[in-house]
Amino acid sequence: MSDFDDFPEEPSDRGNATSSVHAGELRQQEANAITTPIYQTSTFWFRNSKEVTDYQEGKSDREEYGRYGNPTWAAVERKISALEGGEETVLFASGMCAATTTFMALLDDGDHLIVTSDCYRRTRQFIEQFLSRMGVETTVIEPSNLEAFREAIKPNTKLFFTESPTNPYLRVIDVPAFVEVAHAKGVQVIMDSTFATPVNHKALSDGADLVIHSATKYLGGHNDLLAGTLTGPSELVDPVRKALGVLGGIIDSHAAWLLLRGIKTLDIRMERHNANGLALARYLENHPKIGKVFYPGLPSHPDHEVAKRVMSGAGGVVTFEIDTDLAGAMRFIDATTIPYQAPSLGGVESLIELPVTMSFWDKPKEERLRLGITDSLVRYACGIENADDIIADIEHALEKV
Ligand SMILES: *Cc1c(COP(=O)(O)O)cnc(C)c1O
Repeated sequence: MSDFDDFPEEPSDRGNATSSVHAGELRQQEANAITTPIYQTSTFWFRNSKEVTDYQEGKSDREEYGRYGNPTWAAVERKISALEGGEETVLFASGMCAATTTFMALLDDGDHLIVTSDCYRRTRQFIEQFLSRMGVETTVIEPSNLEAFREAIKPNTKLFFTESPTNPYLRVIDVPAFVEVAHAKGVQVIMDSTFATPVNHKALSDGADLVIHSATKYLGGHNDLLAGTLTGPSELVDPVRKALGVLGGIIDSHAAWLLLRGIKTLDIRMERHNANGLALARYLENHPKIGKVFYPGLPSHPDHEVAKRVMSGAGGVVTFEIDTDLAGAMRFIDATTIPYQAPSLGGVESLIELPVTMSFWDKPKEERLRLGITDSLVRYACGIENADDIIADIEHALEKV
């Protein structure tokens, strides 16, 4: 049985919920099963030598060895391509692996990269520690500063990489405006859309060249797997897929299957994450013990107008400052009973963290404060629980501050 013969073309006008459930999966499975199996195999055999040479000459569409492809991953890749509206997707073992493999495949010695300061810490670390050794030069700009971006572009600028919304201040990038400036100078735009998901923002339709996800977060959605994805035109994705075959950061087929299953409820989960995020942000903004609340769905957020234009929902993450010191912030977190204190976001279970004690504990205080990570800054990643319960729990915990 050939793997892909029965794969129907997806009508491209289907909605996110329909695509989440159906896109990318074969209608006819082995044994008339509805669900895609976990292909738990490290290699794929050829019945005769002619099949080998046909494969080598590109005359058959099949898998060869487990580091180059697997039908379970292929189903996930097609599903994400449909959701993002992109030609091709490649899956990785983690979001970091998606970013590092993409940078290594697309950047050469002498190239210049532009990134934003409000950026996932390990991505920045990779750029500083590893890309610099490969001879790639980097300029860091403030997120959302289009003028700074325009000024940072040099003749050798190859890529602009940014998250949207960013972490932890949830800055929203005006993607069409950045793309216009970038493309006029031949610069390609890669969006890390982890916080947005294809439900809240379609980066490729806004002109971005490539979109990356830590699928560990909303796409997987259940705090039970790590994965990464890259989507875009085959011309750009193919070299990255080839680099992955060499660098080897492939996903296990069981994790890929969990991701496939997780994505089926993506659209409906995002509805709840968005609603919970907005309800929590509105509640916090009116609480006397709370300082600033950062949530793009609030009119007080610096990028609210941009968010209204480019996003269809503001997501489940709310960042806020409590009017207290580190000890008070710790008492608050320890008094909550619904969220787990843990890094990450995007799963059905709410998670809470103090960036100062979690991702930034080893940073010198001055550097941390320069990045805006104060002692009482809290990141609440809403799960899909009832908003009333999340808020009642916060209300109770704030009494301990
Ligand atoms: C978590 C995260 C990553 C890293 O992804 P992993 O799956 O943990 O490797 C990259 N970018 C953003 C925005 C993230 O939130």
